[in-house]
Amino acid sequence: MMRRVPGKGPKPAKIMIVGEAPGANEELRGEPFVGQSGDELTRMLAEAGINRDECYVTNVCKFRPPNNELWRFFHSNDETKKLKPQAVNGLFPRQEVIDGLNELQIEIELVQPNIIIAVGNYSFWALSNNVNIKNEEGFKVPVGVGTWRGSIIPPNETYHGRKIIPIYHPAAILRMWEWRKITVHDLNRARRDSESPIYETPPYRFIVRPSYTDTIKWLNGLIADANAGPLKLAIDIETRLGHIACIGIAWSDFDAICIPFITKDSLQGYFTPYEEAAIIWFLYRLFTHPNVQAIGQNFAYDMQYIARRWGFIFHLHADTMLTQHVLFPGMPKTLDYIASLWCKFYCYWKDEGKEWDPRTMDMERHWVYNCKDAVNTFEVNREQQKIIELWKLQEQQQLLMDMFPVFLRTMLRGVRINLDLRKQLSIQLLNEIMECERWFGSVTKGLNLTKPKAKPWFSSPQQLAYVLYDLMKLPKARHRTTGKDTTNDEALTTIAAREPLIAPLINKLKEFRSLRIFHSNFIMASLDKDNRIRCSYNIGGTETFRLSSKEDAFGMGTNLQNIPKGNEDD
Ligand code: URA
Repeated sequence: MMRRVPGKGPKPAKIMIVGEAPGANEELRGEPFVGQSGDELTRMLAEAGINRDECYVTNVCKFRPPNNELWRFFHSNDETKKLKPQAVNGLFPRQEVIDGLNELQIEIELVQPNIIIAVGNYSFWALSNNVNIKNEEGFKVPVGVGTWRGSIIPPNETYHGRKIIPIYHPAAILRMWEWRKITVHDLNRARRDSESPIYETPPYRFIVRPSYTDTIKWLNGLIADANAGPLKLAIDIETRLGHIACIGIAWSDFDAICIPFITKDSLQGYFTPYEEAAIIWFLYRLFTHPNVQAIGQNFAYDMQYIARRWGFIFHLHADTMLTQHVLFPGMPKTLDYIASLWCKFYCYWKDEGKEWDPRTMDMERHWVYNCKDAVNTFEVNREQQKIIELWKLQEQQQLLMDMFPVFLRTMLRGVRINLDLRKQLSIQLLNEIMECERWFGSVTKGLNLTKPKAKPWFSSPQQLAYVLYDLMKLPKARHRTTGKDTTNDEALTTIAAREPLIAPLINKLKEFRSLRIFHSNFIMASLDKDNRIRCSYNIGGTETFRLSSKEDAFGMGTNLQNIPKGNEDD
């Protein structure tokens, strides 16, 4: 008999915490969040200055799902086709969850919280329409808490008219400890925002769709400001098919202009060629002005475009990604993640600019997105700078910024390739690859290891998994982060150590893989028209402050930093 676990806590309460479903301990004690996850949640709340006893704590579903897996209280894709149940926000819940959702509505009305903390993906699904849905093993499951976490989501009447802040689930944190710190940060934000039910809208003053005259007027105005003294500008470009689609320039947390060049409405471009040339000339004058302090996020990317398409480069004062690297080398450094740490009005916005489907895309939304990137970069830079000074890390920050122009030059220049030698190397490697294939054929002669119509068993991870795990019945190796069966290099090393008899086969497989990667990724890497190979270096690419590199901003070239020897044992 399933035991109902009701919500617990004061009514009203400023903060309401909504989890997914009770686990074993919760079921035993009849209270939400009293097991291991609950204890971790209580500790994190305390660290963020929230007294759990002052919060109302509940779950989307009031019953413990079989095996603690909430997807079991939803219809499978097959059942959905047959039964055609009612969809709720893209999922097909069973009665246990439907009842829970109805009860949740009543609880919110009774508790009247200023803010609701949505703990985990199912809670986020139940409380907002921002969640994404993924298909996993015949079921639809919600995902997206990792992208939306830390956002204050504006109240929406469908979702009870309350502010929502999603956070990682403590059970996930117990598996991914590095998510804990950011969650305490998010809870701190929840505490600050719990003082009032009002959602504060950021007072943006964005200039989008400017006329030519307005564009020049604004650029002239910014040049006049720079003439008067130091001027910080955050700059961000959006690109489309190898070209600059628009540029956003921000001069405060809320003020920005987006100057468009490509629009889906006209094949001719937004401005006439003469107008565009004049605007680029004004941009050149502005960005190279000695008083302008240009700020960008991952600006090595933008500068490659500006250099190639507009023919100039300029001094970069600060790169928010590199500053973040100096402050927290081990943490993520994408703009949305960094903004979630530093920006007062942070609400995840990065999906707004992704679309470029001419039939459905909204250009205005794209340009606003560009402005949001720019203002967020502006605000991030100011807040980061305070901590750089507090922690006295100016020298380290300067070191990375001094490296920026050096690596930029290296990237723009590229490396000349000897085409004859490249051809010879390619033939040599292809021969060695064929040699491996012959060897696999000879040692497995008479065995039918490849499924009909499938790729040879040694050349696809799925086929290899079939041979190793299904036919040979070896214990399955699991991927460290995804937890799924894998035949990656780490798995092969484990298998070779466990099974000395087949170690020669496994080692040959590893060699085969590394030869193929060497051939396709390095020898066949795409060259530019001038037969040079280019890459983009990331000065903040590794936790150890070693450089990392990959293909350039135009998708050409490859990682030129860590070229393997091809066969590591030679
Ligand atoms: N996990 C939840 O989501 N809720 C609980 O109550 C306990 C664990």
